[in-house]
Amino acid sequence: MITKMLSEEESRHFGSLQFTPSRKAGLARLRNFAPLAGREYAARRNYDFGPEFRGYVSALSPWIRHRLITEQDVLNAVQKHHSISQAEKFVQEVFWRTYFKGWLEQHPSVWTAYLSNLNRALESGIQNQEYRDATQGRTGIDCFDHWVRELVETGYLHNHSRMWFASIWIFTLRLPWELGADFFLRHLMDGDPASNTLSWRWVAGLHTKGKTYLARANNIAKFTEGKFNPVGQLAENAEPLTEKAEHPSVALSISDPMPKGDFLLLVTEEDCQIAELLPHEPAADMGLVASCERSPLSLGKTAQNFAAGAIWNSCDCPSLETTNWQDRIVAAAEAAGVKTVVTGFAPVGPVATKLYKSKLAEAGLQLHQIRRNYDSLAWPHATKGFFGLKRKIPTILGGLGYPLR
Ligand SMILES: Cc1cc2nc3c(=O)[nH]c(=O)nc-3n(C[C@H](O)[C@H](O)[C@H](O)COP(=O)(O)OP(=O)(O)OC[C@H]3O[C@@H](n4cnc5c(N)ncnc54)[C@H](O)[C@@H]3O)c2cc1C
Repeated sequence: MITKMLSEEESRHFGSLQFTPSRKAGLARLRNFAPLAGREYAARRNYDFGPEFRGYVSALSPWIRHRLITEQDVLNAVQKHHSISQAEKFVQEVFWRTYFKGWLEQHPSVWTAYLSNLNRALESGIQNQEYRDATQGRTGIDCFDHWVRELVETGYLHNHSRMWFASIWIFTLRLPWELGADFFLRHLMDGDPASNTLSWRWVAGLHTKGKTYLARANNIAKFTEGKFNPVGQLAENAEPLTEKAEHPSVALSISDPMPKGDFLLLVTEEDCQIAELLPHEPAADMGLVASCERSPLSLGKTAQNFAAGAIWNSCDCPSLETTNWQDRIVAAAEAAGVKTVVTGFAPVGPVATKLYKSKLAEAGLQLHQIRRNYDSLAWPHATKGFFGLKRKIPTILGGLGYPLR
């Protein structure tokens, strides 16, 4: 049994997790996990023991997704305990997020096609009994029903369970993948347009065309240590889904320059820590929450509270109002007497949509979206499959100044 391999001391750190949406809590979790990011992670990360025991994965995704802690915070902490090569597997996983963000940025029509297919599927889907059974955990497939409850109650699922879940949704229950992706995005604290949409497409055989992921009973039994064994209940084939739409690649934009004079700082869930990069203090700041725009349906409470809390804890003047964004920004800039608004770069997703075609220009305001050097160095390599970017990890890390041992 794998469970027994942590010391008592370690087990205390990794019992039931508290996901407090602050930088301090994210850094504390990171400090606890970093010693295990080497061999332990590589050997045991695929085991899911449920929410009571998250010892072998970092569970850092809610903080990283909102950039309460950044990928570089994670790399810095890991490096204190391991060389990059000792923690190779973990470092690669961190770069999966980077890959998905960079890839979606260069194929934005995947997101818009997802949204329109989702709306179409919802029109008939919500009435559909199979969809209701799936989202209420009443399929009769124990593991699946358990993960539905776990997701809704805790706002987190282990990566392996996400893969099994998506595969069962698509190939056993035969429901539209967009409805499953929407269910995840509404309930995951780390709900993220790029990682979520592209992972669902990857399972379905739409991302790596023709290559699907099939959940198998023996694999579930092995990596849940026998907690579940859905023998005879799962599809035995996973025929890849197909689509008519083409998704041409578009050039990456360049980062806006740093502001020179006074500015209003706008904090969104895309980068709660952007203030650390700016040349001086803002004249004023404001936070705006766009998480409810993730879906036409309502967001799970846990996911909503994490996103709102992340912003609340990252600026002096948070707002939980989600309407009239642009009017609010214009009013706040006027009150602060500035003509420049600065925010963290908003990748493809609801925040970017909210900022697009803004009234800000009409009001004579200039919007600067500041992209992190980490993204600027990595995203150009996210053009094809993950392995293209993986090959470039040493170059990217070298460019960021990490010693490559
Ligand atoms: C169907 C499906 C949907 C998903 N939806 C999301 C989502 O909405 N948001 C999200 O952040 N992740 C998503 N993932 C990716 C992955 O499951 C989570 O990032 C990971 O489980 C988070 O747990 P952790 O922090 O313990 O990861 P760890 O294993 O500890 O990994 C460390 C970090 O690396 C990154 N990472 C690890 N695995 C992946 C991966 N496969 N893809 C992208 N980044 C990864 C995350 O930032 C994570 O915090 C999805 C995966 C699947 C299969």
